[in-house]
Amino acid sequence: MEHTRRNRIVDLLESKEYGSDVLVKGWVRSKRGNKNINFITINDGSIIHNIQIVAEVANFAEEVLKLITTGSCISVTGILTESMGQGQSVEIQARKIEVYGTADPETYPLQKKGHSLEFLREIAHLRPRTNTFGAVLRIRHAMAFAIHKYFNDHGFYYMHAPIITGSDAEGAGAMFRVTTLDEKNPPLLPDGHVDYSQDFFGKETKLTVSGQLEAELGAMALSLVYTFGPTFRAENSNTPRHLAEFWMIEPEMAFYDIHDNMDLAEDFLKYLMQYALDHCIDDLEFLNKMYDNELIGRLKQVIDDKFERLTYTEAVDILKASGQTWEFPVDWGTDLQAEHERYLVEKHFGKPVILTGYPKDIKAFYMKQNDDGRTVRAMDVLFPKIGEIIGGSQREENLEALMQRIHEMNIPERDVWWYLDTRKYGTAPHAGFGLGFERLILFVTGMSNIRDVIPFPRTPKNAEF
Ligand code: ATP
Ligand code: MN
Repeated sequence: MEHTRRNRIVDLLESKEYGSDVLVKGWVRSKRGNKNINFITINDGSIIHNIQIVAEVANFAEEVLKLITTGSCISVTGILTESMGQGQSVEIQARKIEVYGTADPETYPLQKKGHSLEFLREIAHLRPRTNTFGAVLRIRHAMAFAIHKYFNDHGFYYMHAPIITGSDAEGAGAMFRVTTLDEKNPPLLPDGHVDYSQDFFGKETKLTVSGQLEAELGAMALSLVYTFGPTFRAENSNTPRHLAEFWMIEPEMAFYDIHDNMDLAEDFLKYLMQYALDHCIDDLEFLNKMYDNELIGRLKQVIDDKFERLTYTEAVDILKASGQTWEFPVDWGTDLQAEHERYLVEKHFGKPVILTGYPKDIKAFYMKQNDDGRTVRAMDVLFPKIGEIIGGSQREENLEALMQRIHEMNIPERDVWWYLDTRKYGTAPHAGFGLGFERLILFVTGMSNIRDVIPFPRTPKNAEF
């Protein structure tokens, strides 16, 4: 069983079993040496560090050694030895080398180190082989795993919301259509509109913008559920914090009010920061050194600080009294922009902030109304460098109040009859939130563009890889 015999570099670098036979496989990061000896470093993605292979030229065919260049893939059998060189504890004295795949130095795009992140986006198919994307991808994995672990340990059930949806009631953003109709010759209604009753699902369907409405259905039976899946928004917003396809985590909790919701969000985020520090420290140290020397400090700070909680109305007062000039003017009733959110977090409070009590007119129909008649029990969690990382609310569980909002906002009842049924039958107070997975990864990695924390970003005019 060849695959069980391969030693992962992460294990070898910690091993003290000098003199033992090992087998490593990986991609060459560098080769140097002289006419007697070659030093080859390889990486297999199991850890940010490489392992050094020492090959005595006399023991190998010249043609084989010539094929080993940066980017090629090799298999090495040899003996693990204590390294005398600097910067590594072990190395491998090679006995046998097999070249799986060459990489022509004339054309291999990652021949040299230090490419710009912009360039690497153009070769997204190869960028996982860089230190930076290796680190980001390992952290992304660790965070996904930690999310499932947190919820599992807290009695939540993972529920899968559909990706194709027949409802566009969520109102979270513009949607992508899903259709199998003939694009050149779609069936038309007498009024000239496309006749979607002849489409695959017998109605117009879209890619989901959120799994929340379905999660609510689950919470009304399993009490604690969460979704974790891809969501899609067709907004043409070319910002460093928006993707057209991103992953969202949406817990939904029966019997939670807005305060329980805030407590959960804060505890959850702190758990994830701690998990990253406990399990990804090599990668974090690399990113801290290369991109953002305040990264690790910032993660620790978030764990230590109690998040500041205040109302939207209080926040607007602070912003208006700040004396700052804004690109987007702020006044009660306007949606807060990233510049406002970041001012509150970074300049005014110097820690994460949770805003509640937003004007009902800028929030979704399902949020529970406060007694003042003009605000709702929404909550946005705002983070340094990111702005909004979580958006959530206590939900309106009262059928009449919900119906009234639906009518006010011109949402057709036939689109949400199934959602309204939860309020008709055994309704219960409940709350939930959505965490943007890539916004979380942005924060944890210290990267500054959301295109660099997902393997294959989908943004306007970009779906190559
Ligand atoms: P924003 O105001 O930043 O555009 P939003 O209020 O439209 O976000 P929500 O509908 O509240 O976002 O979605 C919940 C969470 O999903 C957000 O808090 C954010 O973390 C994340 N998110 C929303 N839109 C995007 C996007 N286009 N790309 C990546 N993450 C997103
Ligand atoms: Mn939001």
